[in-house]
Amino acid sequence: MSAAAPRSPIRRLAPETVRRIAAGEVVERPASVVKELVENAVDAGAEEVVVRLEGGGLRRIEVADDGGGIPADELELAIERHATSKLAADGSIEGIRTLGFRGEALAAIASVSKFRIRSRTASANAATGITVTGGEILGRFEAGRAVGTTVEVEDLFFNTPARRKFLHAPAAEQVEILRMIDHLYLARPAVGIWIEADGREVGAYPATSDLRDAAARVLGPEILHQSFAVDGDLPGGGHVRGVLGRPATAAGHSRGLYLAANGRTIQARAIAQAVRVSYHDYIPKTRYPIGVLHLELPPERLDVNVHPTKREVRFAREAEIADAVRLAVRHALIGAPPPAEPPDPSAKPRAQHFLVETRGVGRSSLPPPPRRDAMAASGPAPQRRLDTTEPPTRRAASAGGRPRLTLLGCVGSLYWVAEGEDGLVLVDQHAASERLLYDALLREGKLARQELVEPITIHLTNTQRAALLAHTEAVRSAGFTVEPFGGDAYRLRSVPSWRGGRARTEGLSALLDELAAGARPTVPDGAMERTAASIACHSAIRAGDPVAPAEMSRVLDALYEGAEAVYSCPHGRPVLLQVPRSRLDRWFLRSGP
Ligand code: ADP
Ligand code: MG
Repeated sequence: MSAAAPRSPIRRLAPETVRRIAAGEVVERPASVVKELVENAVDAGAEEVVVRLEGGGLRRIEVADDGGGIPADELELAIERHATSKLAADGSIEGIRTLGFRGEALAAIASVSKFRIRSRTASANAATGITVTGGEILGRFEAGRAVGTTVEVEDLFFNTPARRKFLHAPAAEQVEILRMIDHLYLARPAVGIWIEADGREVGAYPATSDLRDAAARVLGPEILHQSFAVDGDLPGGGHVRGVLGRPATAAGHSRGLYLAANGRTIQARAIAQAVRVSYHDYIPKTRYPIGVLHLELPPERLDVNVHPTKREVRFAREAEIADAVRLAVRHALIGAPPPAEPPDPSAKPRAQHFLVETRGVGRSSLPPPPRRDAMAASGPAPQRRLDTTEPPTRRAASAGGRPRLTLLGCVGSLYWVAEGEDGLVLVDQHAASERLLYDALLREGKLARQELVEPITIHLTNTQRAALLAHTEAVRSAGFTVEPFGGDAYRLRSVPSWRGGRARTEGLSALLDELAAGARPTVPDGAMERTAASIACHSAIRAGDPVAPAEMSRVLDALYEGAEAVYSCPHGRPVLLQVPRSRLDRWFLRSGP
């Protein structure tokens, strides 16, 4: 009590104060202005939007579109708070299809800047505009303009100095703007967006109906041949479609995954997490999938009125939707065909910091336009498995353009040493073998079995017996044939075999132990994956197992036939490490080859 300041009576805020507080919610920084203006253009049916920036948008933002325009007599209304043309007269916001509906953005922007809007509808002979400063309308004017709308915003936050303090340097604000445009474009790639900064083009986002094209613009051209399509149903009538990067393209941060729902860019942690879980056994825990997913839902299942900037949305039955997304992604990932064409050898490897690299400075740093001929040649990626038509050698050649490996030897009965095209490759024999078995299991649903000439009698514990009963089918598809032999004794008639190798008999009890224990903490998800990971782990070559060179070579070849397998074992541990020649040279202080 004592420390409290003397209380003043409750007063109503002055309208001006209310306006500024409200504006603060919608307009945080230049990027939020750009977002609102571009969204308005999209809602107005624009095909192209041009964004011009000065000083990172702090000095000036101009957004011009070729949409339907605003009738001259509605201009004043357009900048009034809570005035919108996007809601029906009854004000129902369920089933909203437009990006805007709160009628706040123009009012907010106009109250914290020097603002001009001019617009022309198809029925008008010229454009009409109004000038507004700090929310005060200063005057009207006529101007020449094609049908559409131009909004100019100067000196953002000129009258709210507190807000200005939270802004970054212009270059950083510009990065934010481009990031925002990435999101807007990937949610609606049918609308082209062009960005100029201080007179130079810094971003070209041409309209396209092909999400892969659009993704290449934002995520880099590598995605054209390093991706797979996702297409699945959502419960309650809906769809998820999109393009995701192969595991090799996974990024060191989570910003490379773009989600949209009903054409609106969204942040939805549950969905992003579902996508990530789908990759859990393909990428290490420190990496994140990249790509674009579009969710289409009946509008009443999407509550967009959660956040003033509409950044967050709420899904009805979110868990179900997330689960359906996970299944759709998982299905597509496992069934993804090998890369459609060998990557362009001149293409730089994906940098982890592509978001920084591809924007901010100049046009030359943007990804080059997608190569139409290349797209046509590769065509849409067919949804089929990789084992059908192509002979193994072609697959090997196209598997990410990796050369075959020449085996050099083995260290400590664990690490194999091989020479690749560009230096040294180290392979973990257990992780590699485990990964291959796991892939084979997921692909075929079972492992081959090898009949034992002499059945072996084994003894199972109570829990192992219970696990055997509960998972008869899993154990059988793992390649183990087990028969009761009285009491706790069982006869083992076959063991999993694979490419000339075969599992040890102890693999069965280890597998049963794990099945009894339920989830392996490191393999979070899905009974099938869990079982496959257990089987693979216990059937695989183990650390310390002596392996014949011929078998090593077979495993290496197989690794290089799979498109993704080399990156990690089912638990996300690395399968191989590459030491490029250049690094060897550096180690030995050699400057060149
Ligand atoms: P909202 O988008 O939520 O309706 P805004 O304040 O962003 O609210 O815009 C107010 C109204 O002004 C819109 O409902 C729309 O009728 C009109 N408007 C704004 N920008 C444009 C534009 N670029 N083209 C056509 N009409 C626009
Ligand atoms: Mg709006």
